[in-house]
Amino acid sequence: MNSTLATVSKILRYSCVDGPGNRLVIFLQGCNFSCQACHNPHTIGICNHCGDCIPACPVNALSLVDSLVEFDPQRCDQCDACLDVCPISANPMVSQYAVADILALIYKHRPFLSGITVSGGEPTRQLQFLVDLFSAVKADPELARITCFIDSNGHLGESGWAALLPVTDGVMLDIKSFRSQLHEDMTGSSNDRSLRSARILYAAGKLYELRFLLVPGKTDSDDELDQLAAFVGELGANLQVRLNAFQHHGVRGPALNWEKMSEDGVNSAADRLRAAGLSNVVTPAVYL
Ligand code: SF4
Ligand code: SF4
Repeated sequence: MNSTLATVSKILRYSCVDGPGNRLVIFLQGCNFSCQACHNPHTIGICNHCGDCIPACPVNALSLVDSLVEFDPQRCDQCDACLDVCPISANPMVSQYAVADILALIYKHRPFLSGITVSGGEPTRQLQFLVDLFSAVKADPELARITCFIDSNGHLGESGWAALLPVTDGVMLDIKSFRSQLHEDMTGSSNDRSLRSARILYAAGKLYELRFLLVPGKTDSDDELDQLAAFVGELGANLQVRLNAFQHHGVRGPALNWEKMSEDGVNSAADRLRAAGLSNVVTPAVYL
């Protein structure tokens, strides 16, 4: 069994919103974007064991042992005070998981699972773990029914996808904006690599859905939606496009002053995309 370890921020035993069917979802720590609208900002950084969060913990669940932050899950009451004070958007409560540990979880829950999804953070930052985990699932005849998906921002390059796609069943890809400058303002990176990834994934038959976050006054403009429609139209007008509505849950900093996206606004964006020929536009089931 491969001994690659992953830094994991959270595992959901069951989810029906992270890909098709009922899925075990593994959230990996660390992201190469710093999205202003991130609703999980504490998954962005990797802990450098500075110790700044230790005094913030009201129940002494954190301590410094041999210059490393140690977390005691028995004491933690999940108040998230440590996440709020971390200066680099990291998380002292992460765990290390080997491929064998995740396989054991899949085995335990497999009668109820359609598949697994690895999310983040940005899961492809831990590329070797992804390749090893998915390869192990594919090599096990008892897990033949389990599909392997990832949620990605598309920053991975061509050779990374070449390593990952042979063992991946589907990718849910986020494009934050089709206008390069706006994408850079919103994420800290240009959209070149994400757009290239969308083309690579579609050509490989692995682009399960393209996700687009509607933010009032930023990504809901006619120009932005027309560029989205043109891009998807070039790939294939029946590609599933999932519109997400910007909300404040989990968000930090200036984006808390951004307007929330209304259901009416989403429906009007969806109508424009459908009128432009996109046949598979999905809107949120709930608005929180
Ligand atoms: S989680 Fe953040 S504040 Fe806490 S030790 Fe790590 S880097 Fe420092
Ligand atoms: S979330 Fe847990 S570890 Fe973090 S401050 Fe709260 S009790 Fe302490």
